[in-house]
Order: sequence, then C-alpha cells, then structure tokens
Amino acid sequence: MRTLNLDMKNPGLKEEIENDGGYITGCIQCGACMSICPVAISGFEFPNKRLFKLIILELEREVLEHRSPWICISCQRCVHVCPRNVNPHSIYFALRRYQSKQFRHPRIFEDIVRSIYQYGFVIEPDNSKRRELNLPDIKLGKEELDEIRMLMEDSRLRILGII
Ligand code: SF4
Ligand code: SF4
Repeated sequence: MRTLNLDMKNPGLKEEIENDGGYITGCIQCGACMSICPVAISGFEFPNKRLFKLIILELEREVLEHRSPWICISCQRCVHVCPRNVNPHSIYFALRRYQSKQFRHPRIFEDIVRSIYQYGFVIEPDNSKRRELNLPDIKLGKEELDEIRMLMEDSRLRILGII
C-alpha cells in the first residue's frame, strides 16, 4: 500500500483551490460523484474522492502530479448529484489552472495539447467506427485548423516547447 508523505504540505493549497473552484472542504467522501461520472464508469483511473482528500490535506506534491483533472469531459453530472454542493467539476478546472501556473502539469496535458494542434481535437478522431455506421468523418477544415494552430503558436505553448 502506498504511503503519503505528510511533510510535503503546502499550507494554503486548499484555500487557493477553493477560492478558484468548488467547496472542497464540504466533501463528505460519499462517492456519489464517481458513481455517476462517465469517465470513471468507463474504467479510467479517476479517484475523485482520494484526490479531494489530498487537497484537503494540502499535499501539494501529490496533487501536482495528478492527471485526473485533465480527463474530465465537463459533462457536469457530478455537479448535480453531489449532496453537498461541492461542484467537483469546478475543482478539476481550478486544479488544471493551479498545475499550469506552476508548470507542473502531468504528461497527459502535453499529449492533449499536441493532439489539438495536430487534429483540432483532444484525441485523434477514429473515423473507422463512424464509417461502419455510415456516418461522415469527423475532420476540421484547413482554415479552422490553421486558426487553432495560429492561436496556439501565439501562446506560451511554443516557448515551453510543447508544440
Ligand atoms: S458527491 Fe460531493 S460529497 Fe460526495 S464524494 Fe463527490 S464531491 Fe464529495
Ligand atoms: S464533469 Fe468531469 S468529473 Fe464531473 S461527472 Fe463529468 S466527467 Fe466526471
């Protein structure tokens, strides 16, 4: 079993996330958000409860390494089911911002950014299944993709060497 290093605390982390996101200290660890989250149901590692506990304990290092915020698809189901109005979705986005500000985002962030730059989508579209169903391919037009790339090239993503 993995043990936590309680010396790696950042007093204030909880407040910073809470000021920018949901009501994390209200979480009672009931797990209702995980039971309804399509990402968790699909089998992705998505330990909301555990991650929220790490934030409440102010364990910055554990939180900075976490990839869960980046696999949330913003469906907002967790927001409606939470009995404590914690708003897990807002917490994930506050965490994304927090990690990005520290330049400590996980590897999955760079994969997502490169995919957006290359295809215009967060993952490479797989059109084979759509063709089997006689659906049109998902593909961005050249102009749309050029516009996305221009915006990204004009950002710090280039300076950071991510694109
Ligand atoms: S549903 Fe709300 S209270 Fe329950 S674990 Fe999720 S965030 Fe915490
Ligand atoms: S908003 Fe994100 S965390 Fe909430 S249920 Fe949807 S995918 Fe899961």
